[in-house]
Amino acid sequence: MTDRIKDKVVVITGASSGLGEGAARHLAACGATVVLGARRTGRLETLVAEIVAAGGQALAVQTDVTDRAAVANLVDTAVQRFGGIDVLINNAGIMPLSALESLKVDEWDRMVDVNIKGVLYGIAAALPHMKAQKSGQVITTSSVAGHVVFPASAVYSGTKFAVRAICEGFRQEVKDYNIRTTILCPGAVKTELLEQISDEGVRSANSDYVGKVGISADSFARMAAFAISQPDDVDVNEIIFRPTAQQ
Ligand code: NDP
Repeated sequence: MTDRIKDKVVVITGASSGLGEGAARHLAACGATVVLGARRTGRLETLVAEIVAAGGQALAVQTDVTDRAAVANLVDTAVQRFGGIDVLINNAGIMPLSALESLKVDEWDRMVDVNIKGVLYGIAAALPHMKAQKSGQVITTSSVAGHVVFPASAVYSGTKFAVRAICEGFRQEVKDYNIRTTILCPGAVKTELLEQISDEGVRSANSDYVGKVGISADSFARMAAFAISQPDDVDVNEIIFRPTAQQ
């Protein structure tokens, strides 16, 4: 399985913690060169050092996915340093859950900017290179919340439904360029995601639940590795996975 991951250049947004960090570690161990984007460079540099010490290849590029030029720089840097981009994992995201009636409009704006526009900027950055290469794969992190709406998830779910629609449209449009598209929809995974929730009640209810049923970030890493490791003519379009104990 790792044969088809080895030597691939994989760009990962949101690589400074949680699912992105787990994917970086796992894919690097499978022989991929990983190019890591996020805002917290200290954490990225620590991860790069760990991967390099283990014999892998990794590079950190400070990236705010709400800044189109920064996302272009992330992808262009990968191409310049390593000769191309095989996989983009459009993973950065935030989840400040709240009821609509709380009117946390700034948080709605941030979710749209990071979770939707960040994904679009990733596509904008990677597509010209993948078209020219006539190969590539874009993996997008949606969610079980991209299939169902639960209490306080209206806006977050809206962003995760939206990226599924965008990625499905993208899949249909890039046939001529031999580009694969994969949507990964995790359920509850133990990461730092809940720390973004400013509503105390919503945060503690979700923390209790994820603390009880949540699985580790390795789960996401294995799903990404599975999708990447398929033969070039096999496109894993979507994977939904969740803790066995999750509703
Ligand atoms: P974490 O909070 O642990 O990680 C979020 C990552 O996104 C961090 O690396 C953070 O980096 C990055 N990020 C946030 N804002 C920006 C920004 N403006 N620019 C660049 N990077 C940014 O959460 P997860 O690992 O859980 O989340 C990763 C993805 O998985 C998200 O899209 C989330 O919606 C999705 N998801 C998570 C689930 C879970 O249960 N954990 C379930 C389903 C989906 P930094 O702050 O350094 O910029």
